[in-house]
Amino acid sequence: MGFEEMWRALLPVGRDADTGGYHRFAWTPPELECRAWFADEARRRGLALEHDRNGNMIAWWRPEEGEGEPRVDRGHRAVLTGSHLDSVPGGGAFDGPLGIVSAFAAVDLLRERGATPRRPIGIAAFAEEEGARFGVACLGSRLLAGAIDPARARGLTDGDGRTFAEVLHGAGLDPDAIGPDEELLGRVGCYVELHVEQGRALREPVGVASSIVPHGRWRLEFAGEGNHAGTTALADRRDPMIPFAGMVLAARDAAERNGTVATVGKVRVVPGGVNAIASSVTAWLDARGPADDAVRRTVAEVGAAAREAARPHRVAVELAEESYTEIVDFNLALRDRVAGALGGAPVLPTGAGHDAGVLSARLPTAMLFVRNPTGVSHAPAEHAETADCLAGVEALAAVLDDLARG
Ligand SMILES: [Zn+2]
Repeated sequence: MGFEEMWRALLPVGRDADTGGYHRFAWTPPELECRAWFADEARRRGLALEHDRNGNMIAWWRPEEGEGEPRVDRGHRAVLTGSHLDSVPGGGAFDGPLGIVSAFAAVDLLRERGATPRRPIGIAAFAEEEGARFGVACLGSRLLAGAIDPARARGLTDGDGRTFAEVLHGAGLDPDAIGPDEELLGRVGCYVELHVEQGRALREPVGVASSIVPHGRWRLEFAGEGNHAGTTALADRRDPMIPFAGMVLAARDAAERNGTVATVGKVRVVPGGVNAIASSVTAWLDARGPADDAVRRTVAEVGAAAREAARPHRVAVELAEESYTEIVDFNLALRDRVAGALGGAPVLPTGAGHDAGVLSARLPTAMLFVRNPTGVSHAPAEHAETADCLAGVEALAAVLDDLARG
């Protein structure tokens, strides 16, 4: 089954017919359907399917198994590729699945061409990469790499109040077994993730990542007092919406001052009635920038502005960090080797977080980007032309072939 056929099979899964956006949250029915698709693709190719302890899946091509002469040197660690199947709310079709569909297609190409890898090649589907359900991005790879405390992960809750532990248990996994997996990491030599480019920076069909800029998520709680919208005099109100609104504007100003980006894209208003003053507002701030200090300064300024805006309204403000990832510079030797295997592709940084960034703390990792003509991502207009996707498959095959040779 070629790239385009696989792509078409996944397209309707979790797609909102009205907006064209995808809703594939970890372990919800559409994402489980994507996982079943992944297992089918592995089975069809005779790849060994591994479910790790942290909800991630890997399809292994071990050419020594039933394909003529044993070739894999057991001492050689595997080359891992792949991406994620989950989406942000209303996300695009390409963010995540492109890397996985391309990985299966690249393995097919290598087999058709009679490639003789000396290392196993694994195709990974990492769990909850977007953090759209439990709030922490790259949760599956963070657990694998030991980048999050398993006890904290178990207690994360989704929008319905279900804990990560409950959801794992429901999916047949043991919540007490999650956490760093040295045995699995020890079998992997490097990880190369192909991903759709999420900005407008790439002018050629395929590029190579240099770095991921520092990025994080913060939660701001504004606690006021719920009351009647008609009978409560302005002077008597403790309305948390007002400092919240000030904070949103302050985030934009702070980003401009510090040369960063800051976004408030999610807010929860309690109780959320038209004729009621809110009792509390929870807002999430996403901030990223070229350097750690610039991002830290942005968040500190937003926090200060929120407290200042809250004081006259007698609203309490709390600012909590949900996750933070320092700058990731991808392994230089691997990056050069990947770019070399592609005959010198453009090298560019990205403002988007990825499993490859998390895993780079434990393994040499690299990323390939496929051009996105709209420059839009995390929204339905996210796009890659089929010809560019096929160029991505060729590029990934060339990289895997090179890395798995020696
Ligand atoms: Zn992604």
